[in-house]
Amino acid sequence: MTTATTALAAASFLLVSLAATPGVAQTRDVMPLMVLVNNIAGVPITVLEKSGRATTRIFREIDVEIIWLDKSDLRLTNPTVLKSMIVVHVLPHDTNAHSKIAHEALGVALPGTRFAWVFYDRIEALTGHGDNDLGCSLGHVIAHEIGHLLLPARAHSPSGIMMAGLDGQRAAQGALFFTRGQARQIRSRLMNAEQQVAMREQ
Ligand SMILES: [Zn+2]
Repeated sequence: MTTATTALAAASFLLVSLAATPGVAQTRDVMPLMVLVNNIAGVPITVLEKSGRATTRIFREIDVEIIWLDKSDLRLTNPTVLKSMIVVHVLPHDTNAHSKIAHEALGVALPGTRFAWVFYDRIEALTGHGDNDLGCSLGHVIAHEIGHLLLPARAHSPSGIMMAGLDGQRAAQGALFFTRGQARQIRSRLMNAEQQVAMREQ
């Protein structure tokens, strides 16, 4: 073995060791996640933009890049996009008169589907009417409900973005994220979905 190949072998061993060592910073693939926000509540665009930035930031932290779609997006004619995107309906209030959803719930996600709903009146009641606070809260509620769609049932955790209730103060500080375990689950769920699409398209 020449010096060059020995050095190369040592270098690849180092890479393998780094990749296998938990806690060591690694370069991970950024995974895309398409999300359509259906703004039924007529949320002002300034609030929606702030909301989108808050949700985007939470998912970027786990190397998931949200691609925001709106109803006029031409990509919605692509069947693969339609089958894989998440849809969040922003409702003015819980419109189901016989709803079994708890009165204090800010949103709900239907397990096993790609659909979630958030209740804008409850977010307003909790947060107040300033664009910054509203956008921040809405973005956190949307991130939480998307989390429910990508995580196993009963995904609430004692801390972070998957806490049962919204901690407005921690949200405003930008301090609510997915736990490491949740991040692993979300990424592996998206990875599996991506592989299934690739197999279908072969
Ligand atoms: Zn929840």
